[in-house]
Amino acid sequence: MPPQQPSAPQTAPDSAPPSPASTASVPDAARMAVQCTECGACVRMCPFLQEHGTPAHMARQLQHSPQTVLNAYACSLCSLCSAVCPEKLDPAQMFMDMRRAAVASGLLDTAPYRRILGYEALGISAAFTLYGLPQGADTVFFPGCTLAGTRPRTVQAAFSYLRTVFPRAGAVLACCSKPSHDLGMQSLFNERFTQLYNRLAQHGIRRVVTACPNCHKVFTTYAQDMEVVSIYEVLARRPAMAAGHDRSAPSCTAALHDPCPLREFPAIHHAARVLAAEAGIDVTELPGTRRRTLCCGEGGAVGAVRPDLAGGWTARRAAAAPQKRIFTYCAGCAGSLSAAGRRTDHLLDLVFYPRRTLAGRMKPARAPFSYLHRLWLKLRWRLLLTRGTDGK
Ligand code: SF4
Ligand code: SF4
Repeated sequence: MPPQQPSAPQTAPDSAPPSPASTASVPDAARMAVQCTECGACVRMCPFLQEHGTPAHMARQLQHSPQTVLNAYACSLCSLCSAVCPEKLDPAQMFMDMRRAAVASGLLDTAPYRRILGYEALGISAAFTLYGLPQGADTVFFPGCTLAGTRPRTVQAAFSYLRTVFPRAGAVLACCSKPSHDLGMQSLFNERFTQLYNRLAQHGIRRVVTACPNCHKVFTTYAQDMEVVSIYEVLARRPAMAAGHDRSAPSCTAALHDPCPLREFPAIHHAARVLAAEAGIDVTELPGTRRRTLCCGEGGAVGAVRPDLAGGWTARRAAAAPQKRIFTYCAGCAGSLSAAGRRTDHLLDLVFYPRRTLAGRMKPARAPFSYLHRLWLKLRWRLLLTRGTDGK
């Protein structure tokens, strides 16, 4: 079965000449204009909405000012508004559709997003991709670009562990194309993700084990006939069995930041806490946690056009539990919060290298080394997995 096709407008290619967007191309807007009671619950949580008004106001605005679809590029797509709405409306989906409408009508200037789109293009390039698919494999590990680049030894340790659970597991190094998805470039995303999906499906892959929250969300949304499970859930089934686990590691109290793409995945929230506790962490719950977690500032590529709003989210998250170190299970969140001056470590580092992590000696790599690390992993996994197979 092909990946799920989105409800977004598919008629206009990404490069279509400009034409006015309208509420007709933003499917949820008409409903939002009528059903949103303007109670303000979402507005109180979100600086973007405080700037632009309630979702109903923005939906009405679209009717006479179609170009306001561009306002959605200051929304982090974090879905906190949807999580708190008492009417069970989904403003975040409307903002996603506004982005798609902006692209379909040719209104989006992609110049500010060159860097993130270049990162995606590199992630799907022949040089950086690996389809390590051993004969008979029905499971693959899909660590994602940033985790593989910043923490290659941890990713390698996670894969070694995974092979103790799924002995024939393969591994794929590629980009899930979430950047083009979130920018509203749906036809480009469809083309790229379909290629990835087809490659896996044709090999008989039925289970994808993710480590990156963004990849997890993409696969659960667009590859619904595959089982998609996070490495955190796999590890939490037998936490003490993780490779390299050191029970004598010192314990500490720490805050756990849940990445916003996993807002609706309570099983992963639970698994993360199991793993943290097993590593000796006494978890302090942040104000705004699990389903009500905050964006770290990376969401929706807002930083490319509104660094003030993106930085505001980061500062808000970093300011919570100021005396505590933070653990998270997203390489992007860890980088964003660390850049804001809060020591933030990755949960997978804690699981596989607890002593070094708790001692503050796990240093995530930066560019250009992060790119070299991805090539190192590719070489290593190629030797391990692809001899005599269709991997390349
Ligand atoms: S998705 Fe996040 S940033 Fe966007 S409107 Fe909702 S709460 Fe605000
Ligand atoms: S929380 Fe829901 S009903 Fe209230 S303003 Fe936001 S979208 Fe409207």
